[in-house]
Formats: sequence, structure tokens, C-alpha cells
Amino acid sequence: MDSLDIAFAEARRYLASLDTRPVASRGTPADMLAGLPAQFPAQGMAAAEVVRAIAAAAEPGLTASAGGRFFAWVKGGALPAALATDMMCSAWDQNVVLASTSPAGAVLEALAGQFLLEALRLPAEASYAFVTGCQMAHVTALAAARHAVLADKGWNVEVQGLNGAPAIRVLANAHHHSSVTRALRLLGLGSDCIVPLGGDEPGRVSADALRLALADAPQMATIVVLNAGDLNIGASDDFATLCPIAQSAGAWVHVDGAFGLWANASPRLASQVAGIELADSWATDGHKWLNTPYDCGMAITRHPDAHIAAMRMTAAYVTTGGAVRDPMDFTPEWSRRARALPALAALMELGRDGLAAMIERCCDHAAAIYDGIVRLEGAVGIARPTLNQGLIRFEARDGDNLSDEMIAAINASGEAFVSGGSWDGERVMRISVCGWNTTDNDVARTVAAVGAALTRLR
Ligand SMILES: *Cc1c(COP(=O)(O)O)cnc(C)c1O
Repeated sequence: MDSLDIAFAEARRYLASLDTRPVASRGTPADMLAGLPAQFPAQGMAAAEVVRAIAAAAEPGLTASAGGRFFAWVKGGALPAALATDMMCSAWDQNVVLASTSPAGAVLEALAGQFLLEALRLPAEASYAFVTGCQMAHVTALAAARHAVLADKGWNVEVQGLNGAPAIRVLANAHHHSSVTRALRLLGLGSDCIVPLGGDEPGRVSADALRLALADAPQMATIVVLNAGDLNIGASDDFATLCPIAQSAGAWVHVDGAFGLWANASPRLASQVAGIELADSWATDGHKWLNTPYDCGMAITRHPDAHIAAMRMTAAYVTTGGAVRDPMDFTPEWSRRARALPALAALMELGRDGLAAMIERCCDHAAAIYDGIVRLEGAVGIARPTLNQGLIRFEARDGDNLSDEMIAAINASGEAFVSGGSWDGERVMRISVCGWNTTDNDVARTVAAVGAALTRLR
């Protein structure tokens, strides 16, 4: 077998093991390094031998995050067509910088972008960039926002930078993800520019809070950051109300929709993000709820001119301006793999109906896991999933909070993998369901594993 045959066989073996392997990895770092050279070897190894050695080394340290019982953080698996296309992309080794460096990469990326906007029901004229993840999608979209709000003040930030520039404030949902903060750090705005906004409903910005904050400095360059799907309870802002308020005050509205934007692909769930198409920019992930392999994020903006102004670079050896869109006009990266193609594959494998069904199925599974667990003695429901995220607290007989012990016990069982968080100052277990391949049986196995751990720990 040559190295590609071995890689293919190893990939199949891993996928076939997902139902039976422990969901958490059980290896120690030493286990993962045992079969590998300890120092950079003077002489190389045959390619087939290298692939075999790396596969064997990785095996004890692999989680079953591609499977149906991984509910920690917010992670999807990889749809079969998306995974297979990703493997082809590695073999093709295209550099999708310009239409001229990879005609296929650029043309198919443009189709992926069109399908993406249709799937998410965003404006057909919107610009988009396929980046490494939602973190860089925030950087990309917020760079476009920074350009636009400063251009309004007669300032060209790409040329003049931020030294001496008009100040920018960012009015952000108080439950914003820390990747928003890091994007603002990278963009030179710093975390101090954030004014957190809340309201009466958990995880949601109220119209009054937004109006008050805007009125606080009506002339100031302003970006508003709203949430589609916060990572604890899946709460989304009231875009239909908030976007017009912000925009009539001259602000740019950016949405963190890492997973929650996909609710707009489901007729049943779209009401939770009603009005989301009114925003100025959106950041989302392919590698979470669309179930592409890593790395795949998307930045989308309503303002192609601002997007291009923030990203476009030229150099003498760069040939641009042909009939086909040049990806690097929209991305912070220069060289990049054909990362839009697995997204195209996922969208084609699912179609509009299949995408909606997958999103809804994840929400149903999240609710079923929650309902199954809160029936158990000692489990306290904190937030029943309205989308695909839920929170549960565990209590000992004396009332002590057992959540962290339960998370450790569930993960040690190998039957499911969950993560924790804090909610209202209390430790809780989070449930997040993003996997295309989670089944009713996975739900039942998870509830049974939680029940067994709870009986033992109480
Ligand atoms: C995961 C996540 C991010 C960051 O996305 P990456 O793809 O990991 O960069 C941002 N916001 C929310 C709400 C998320 O769940």
C-alpha cells in the first residue's frame, strides 16, 4: 500500500470506529509520542512508513468528535461529500488566491458563495469570504465595518491607520463570544472600545439599552455586535427591531452567527432570527453546523465596496480583474487551500430541504437529551434548548453542585462528551448538538450514561 492508500484506510477505520470507540481520548501525551522519533531525524523515512507512524501515534489521542455523541463546545462532524471533497482538495493542492492561480478553485468558490447566501437567505448581492473560522470571519467583517464607519467620518483607515483616527465604539451584546473581543484587539480597536449591552431577557439586547447607548454619543463612529445563537442557551437578538434602530443612528450592525445563523435555513426555526438579513455583516462557520471538516468559516457583508476596500492588496506579480471573482480581494489570507469546496459539497449533498432537516434534527436531539436528563433525580433543568444548546445543573442529595463532577464522570464513561460553563454564577453542564450523524440511539445512550453517572455520584 502506498501512503495515500494507507491514509484512506486509516480514515475509513476511524470513521468505522465512531460508534464503539470512547468519545473522549484516553491516551496520555507520552502514548501519542511513543512510536515517533524524539528528535528531528537526520534521515527521512519512506512516505508510507511516515503515514503509518503518524496514524498509530494519533490513535490514542483522537476524540470521537466526528461522531454522534460529542456534545461539548459547539462542534459538528463532517458530511461524507464534504469530507471526501476536502481530501481531494489536499491532493489537488490548489492555491486559491486568484482566479489565475486556480481557475477551478475560484469558479467553484463563487458557486459556493452563491449557494451559501441562498441557503442562509441573505441578500444575493452580499460579498463573502471563506476564511479559517468564525474568529477570522469576525476580523474580516469587522475590518469592513471599521472601514465604513471611519469613511463616514472622512477617514481612510487602510491608508491613514488608526493613529489620530476618530474613535470607534462597539456596542456589543454582553454575551458576545470572546472571538469578537480578539477580533477587535487584532484590528487595533482594543477591548476597551466595547460597551456591553443587555436587557431583561437572558442573552438578548433590549431596544431601550441600544437606544440609550446610541444616544450617549450620537456623533461617534459606532459598530453594533449582535448574537445569533449565544453559546450557552442559543439566544438570538431581535434583529428586526434592533437593526433599524442602530442603522438609523449610522451604526454598522455585525452579527456573530457562528452556528445560530443556520437557524435561518430552517422554516421552522427562522423566526428565532427574524430580521437577521437586515444586518450589515455576518460571521459564521462551516465547520460547526454545516458539518464541513475544519477549517471553514465565512464572512459575509452587505457592502462589497467596504469589504474590498478593507482587504484588497495589489502587487506587481498579481494579476486580477478578470471575469472571475478573485478570492483574495475578500480574505485576510494570501495563500489558501480550496476551503470553499467542502462547503459547496455539503450544501449540494444536503440541498435546501436536507439542510433544514439537519438543523431541525439537531435541535430535536438537543431537546430530547435535555428532557431525558432532567427527568433524572438530581438533574435540574436551567435552560431547555430552543435551538441546539441547553444547560443542566446537577445536585447532590445535600444540594451541593455536582455539575463538574458529572461532566468528568460522563466524559470518563466514553459514552458521550460534554463541557461545562457558568450561568448565573453557578456551574452547569452544556449540551450542544451540531452533528449531522447524531441518532435517536445516540440520544438514548447519552441519557443512559448520564443516569448511570448520577446514580453513582449521588
Ligand atoms: C465557535 C464560536 C466562535 C468562534 O468560531 P471559530 O470557528 O472557532 O473561530 C464565535 N462565536 C460563537 C458564538 C461560537 O460558538
